[in-house]
Amino acid sequence: MGNSDKDDLSLPVSPKVHVRIFLAAHGDGPHACWFCEEAVTRGDGGRWRAREGLTIHHLDHDQSNNALENLVPAHLGCHAGYHSGLRAAQKVEEARRKMAAARRRSTREAPELAAGIMRQIRALGRRIGDGDGGLSEFRRLKEAIKLAEGEAVAQLRSHGLSDSEIGKELGVSKQSVQERWPRSS
Ligand SMILES: [Zn+2]
Ligand SMILES: [Zn+2]
Repeated sequence: MGNSDKDDLSLPVSPKVHVRIFLAAHGDGPHACWFCEEAVTRGDGGRWRAREGLTIHHLDHDQSNNALENLVPAHLGCHAGYHSGLRAAQKVEEARRKMAAARRRSTREAPELAAGIMRQIRALGRRIGDGDGGLSEFRRLKEAIKLAEGEAVAQLRSHGLSDSEIGKELGVSKQSVQERWPRSS
């Protein structure tokens, strides 16, 4: 595609050079807007009306590629709308990628986290056995684990897993999943 010559790019280039190139080749119009296909003409007396005025879009999105076949006419409004739509779509795609990365991270980190906590629980058992705490600490620990289990079950349900699938993971029946963690309406 034409103009990617280093010497051309290093020249001081007017921001409207692509418009001048298009007009020199095709005249003031009317032209068919690339986006809405309605007539678009260079404004009277060389003025550019804010929304309706003519602008030139780079088909390949490379602002430095001013090869004539890369330039198409457009209304200023249609052109601005196209580019802001592109940006919005890019933002949505970026957010989707970030969420997928966070999901991958959490499935990678959960087993490591669990292994660390299990080591700590065994260490706690030894400390309790040495007489620091008393067995009431274990009761509180069991309660905390039960709560964590309930949170995991609720989370799995929110991801659309059925109670029998959850039961299979835990090695218990669907019924005991439903008894232990009743679905709150
Ligand atoms: Zn248009
Ligand atoms: Zn454009």
